[in-house]
Amino acid sequence: MPVAIKRAPQRTCLACRQVKNKRDLLRVVRTPDGVIEIDTTGKKAGRGAYLCRVRECWEAGLKDDRLEHALKSRLKSSEREQLLSQIKELLKGAR
Ligand SMILES: [Zn+2]
Repeated sequence: MPVAIKRAPQRTCLACRQVKNKRDLLRVVRTPDGVIEIDTTGKKAGRGAYLCRVRECWEAGLKDDRLEHALKSRLKSSEREQLLSQIKELLKGAR
């Protein structure tokens, strides 16, 4: 009898294109109000994109405008900086 393996949901990091378990990635979301924010719960409404929990992927994603494409939204440079500083804070406590 084959054993049914419950697979964790997987998502692709938009910077390095690696497929990972959803919980190993961080979600960024554009809310219906047009606010770009990091969704630490993974449950916020809006258009979302996923990136690895490493700073390099966030820097690459923000620099190459891949995040803008994924969210279909222009990011102000102040918003980019805010996201990056939030990421640095979040990742500091990781592991
Ligand atoms: Zn990545």
